[in-house]
Amino acid sequence: MQIYKFGGASVRNTKTISSLKNIISQNNGELIVVVSAMGKTTQQLEILLNKYLKAWFNIQENFTSVPKVQRDKLNASIENWNHNNKEALDEYTNIKNYHYQIVNEIIKENISLNKIGELFNELEKCLEQEPSYNYDYEYDRIVSYGELVSTRIINAFLIEQGFNSKWIDIRKGIKTGNFYRDAQVNWELTEQFCQRLFTFEKEKLYITQGFIGSTVNNHTTTLGREGSDFSAAILAYTLKAENVTIWKDVDGVYNGDPKIFKEVELLEKISYQEAIEQTYYGAKVIHPKTIKPLQNKKIPLYVKSFETPESPGTLIHSYEKWNRGSITKDVIPVFISKNNQVLIRVIPFDYSFIAEENLSKIFSLFAKYRIRVNLMQNTAISFSASFDHDVVKIPPFLEELKAEFECEFNFGYELLTVRHFDDIVISEIIGNREIVIEEKNSTTARFLLK
Ligand code: ADP
Ligand code: ASP
Ligand code: MG
Repeated sequence: MQIYKFGGASVRNTKTISSLKNIISQNNGELIVVVSAMGKTTQQLEILLNKYLKAWFNIQENFTSVPKVQRDKLNASIENWNHNNKEALDEYTNIKNYHYQIVNEIIKENISLNKIGELFNELEKCLEQEPSYNYDYEYDRIVSYGELVSTRIINAFLIEQGFNSKWIDIRKGIKTGNFYRDAQVNWELTEQFCQRLFTFEKEKLYITQGFIGSTVNNHTTTLGREGSDFSAAILAYTLKAENVTIWKDVDGVYNGDPKIFKEVELLEKISYQEAIEQTYYGAKVIHPKTIKPLQNKKIPLYVKSFETPESPGTLIHSYEKWNRGSITKDVIPVFISKNNQVLIRVIPFDYSFIAEENLSKIFSLFAKYRIRVNLMQNTAISFSASFDHDVVKIPPFLEELKAEFECEFNFGYELLTVRHFDDIVISEIIGNREIVIEEKNSTTARFLLK
C-alpha cells in the first residue's frame, strides 16, 4: 500500500486537480490519498474565524488574531450581533463561492454534491452559534472545514470520473490529545482506529484529509499549520505503507527554497537525518514532524512535482554512512531562511547571573506558551533568543516574563541557516548585512540578520 499527499497548491484549481487525477490513475495498487485544503483556504478560514470571534467578543478593531478568548462579551443586542457578523458571513460566502466555482467546473452531477452542501451548511450554522472562550478550540472547529470540503469535492470528482474511491473522515482514525491547534498524536489509538478504517476490503483507493484529527471525545483538532505532510506520515507508520509521495509545486527538495534563493540545485537523494535537520531549521518544503515516523519504520519518502510527475523528484531514505554512492548531494551547501523573527533580550532585575535558576525560569515560560526557540545566546547577565512571531502566544508570554526580567523586544529579523558551509559561501550570501547573533558547529552555521 502506498500513500500520496496532495497539498493546497495541487488542488487549487481545475487544472491542478486534473493533474491529481492523472497521477492517481497511474497507480493501480492500494492507495491512500491525503488531501489538504484547496489553495489558500486555510488562511481564509483563519480570517473568517477572527471576524466571527470579533462579532461576538468585544475586541478592538485592529487585532489580527485573538488571544485565548477571555474577553468581555458584547452586551449587545441581537441587531448589533447581526451587523457585526456580516463581515464573517461575507468571508464565508467568498470561501463557498471559490469552492463552488471549482465544483461547477469539474463535477457534472453527483450524489456526493449533497455532502459538500451539508458541510457548508454546518459551517454556516457554527457561525450563528455563540463561540466558546477557547480560541484554539474554535480555531480547530472552524479551520478544519477546509480539508473536509476539499476531500469531499475531490472524492465526488473522482467517483464521477469512474474511480471506485472511498471518502474517509480521518477524525475517526487520527486520535489526539486536546491541545488544540497543535494536537499531539495518540499513536496507540490511532494505530488501532486506522487499521479498522483502512481495510482495503472492497476498495483500493481512499481519499482522506490531512492536518486534522480528533480527541477521544470526538472534538476536532488540528496538528499545526502545514500538518498534512505529517498526516501522511502518521498513516504510513500506522498502516506500514511501502512508501509515501508528497506532490508539490516544485520538482523536489532543493538546496534552498527556489522562491528565495537563486541557482538552487535539486537534491536527488537525502538521508532521513539530513531531512530532519533541514526541516528542523525551517526548510518549509516538508513539515518537520513528517520524517521521524517514516524513519522509525524505514519507509521511503518521495517529494515530487504534480506538474511534472515523470521527473524523479527527491528520495528521502536511509543509507549507511559509508555508502557514498547514495549520499548524492547531501554535502553541498544548503540554505534555509526564516523570516519574521522576534529577538528578545532579558536581564534579571537584580543583575544576577544568567545561570541555571534564571534559565529554568525563562525556559519554563517558553514551554508554557509553546514558543520554540530558534537561536539563543547568553552573557553573564543577559540572555537573548529568537523565535517565530506569533501574535497569539507572545503577548501573554511577555507579560509573565516582564514580571521577573527587564526585557527588550524587537521584530523583523531573518534567521539564515547554512548547512555544509564554508567561509566563501557564507561571505557571498551574507554580504555586508548586520549579524546580530551567530552560532556555528561543524556542519551548520546560523545567523540572525537585521
Ligand atoms: P503544499 O502544497 O504541500 O502545502 P508547500 O507550499 O508547503 O506545499 O511547500 C512547497 C513550497 O516549499 C515550494 O513552493 C517552495 O517555495 C518551498 N520550499 C522551501 N524550501 C524548499 C526547498 N529546500 N526545496 C524545495 N522547495 C522549498
Ligand atoms: N491546510 C493546512 C495548512 O494550510 C494544512 C496543510 O496544508 O498542510 O496549514
Ligand atoms: Mg503547505
